[in-house]
Amino acid sequence: MLEAAELGARAGERARARGEQPELVALTGYDVDVEPLFQWVTADAAPALRAAFAGVLLLLVIACANVALLLLMRGTARGRDLAIRAALGGGRSRVALQQVSEGVLLALAGGALGTPELLLSQGLANGSGHVGRHLHVQPACWVGARFDGRQVRGWDGVMQSWRVDEWLNRRVFLEATFTPLAFGAPWLPGAGAALKERIERYGELGIVGVHLADTSEGRVRVGRRGELRLSYRLTRDDARRLRFGIARAAEIHFAAGATEVYPQVGGLRSIGPGEEAKVEEGLFSPSALRLEAFHPMGTARMGPDPRTSVVGTSGESHEVSCLYVADASVLPSALGANPMLTIMACARRIARGMAERLT
Ligand SMILES: Cc1cc2nc3c(=O)[nH]c(=O)nc-3n(C[C@H](O)[C@H](O)[C@H](O)COP(=O)(O)OP(=O)(O)OC[C@H]3O[C@@H](n4cnc5c(N)ncnc54)[C@H](O)[C@@H]3O)c2cc1C
Repeated sequence: MLEAAELGARAGERARARGEQPELVALTGYDVDVEPLFQWVTADAAPALRAAFAGVLLLLVIACANVALLLLMRGTARGRDLAIRAALGGGRSRVALQQVSEGVLLALAGGALGTPELLLSQGLANGSGHVGRHLHVQPACWVGARFDGRQVRGWDGVMQSWRVDEWLNRRVFLEATFTPLAFGAPWLPGAGAALKERIERYGELGIVGVHLADTSEGRVRVGRRGELRLSYRLTRDDARRLRFGIARAAEIHFAAGATEVYPQVGGLRSIGPGEEAKVEEGLFSPSALRLEAFHPMGTARMGPDPRTSVVGTSGESHEVSCLYVADASVLPSALGANPMLTIMACARRIARGMAERLT
């Protein structure tokens, strides 16, 4: 065994050979090699790592240049939009903040047909397979009535005046909505001179719209060439509900003094007072009803479960974070009312959530 003094002396010699302080080493007996941590960790790989780091920096610069160019192009394309915002009092910082926030969060508001079309054609947010499904349209029927010799003049005053929600438990609601000539005349029965006469007496018409909160569903698809495809099948139950509503609309017209009602069902061109049962009791297939629809909804439906819905309760896609949907497509079922106010309320709530996220 070496003595401590001899160990210290040998360490001192080694330290002197390295140009270090031999007295300190000799005194303590400890021989310490000091090496920079970076050198110890990287060893021989340092040059390769430096090259890789330079490569990453270069990529970052290219990416930043690309993003800057994209923002510049987007800004140029939106010159008018930005000018209007500035003219309305939007300061530089607010307009700039809007540009930045648009880059961070994205909101889709293409409506119940446009939003699923965009998502499907981009292959986005459809892990659940529910994008484009569950299309509700709230089918409606134009039920006009002739009030012989009376100038109803439906174009005077409020276009959409009365609503009957007495049969909402049957999913049916009625709205007295007067349609202008160009929109309403195609629903009048007959042809040639008979149709001409009905059109000339348009001022004697009263009109009730029969609406249904449908349980039937349709689907929005995108075809091979990128074209929008729609399908919708009215169930027998829903067709029966609509015929119930048409019969009630006819009763209302007759109670108000109408002489004939146009029910838009099968071969029934018109019915007279007391003939409402013909609409309800006849054997009609769903396709025998002449219908229209104004309220598409439900094609990117909202819900807490990612397996059965497209967006969560905040409007954000379950699958693509920072992608929000804020239009009629998030409504998970037919409303039983005209939907615009509800859509606006939902969009406002979703927008507030997005704003809170950004602040
Ligand atoms: C004749 C008629 C009468 C109606 N009357 C009433 C009523 O009295 N009361 C009521 O509550 N509701 C009414 N509605 C329904 C109401 O208008 C709609 O439910 C509502 O507008 C839907 O709002 P939204 O934001 O979901 O879609 P929309 O208002 O349809 O907005 C979607 C927007 O996205 C745009 N868009 C779509 N695809 C793309 C794309 N790929 N790229 C860029 N932009 C795109 C569209 O051009 C459109 O501007 C009526 C509808 C019609 C047709």
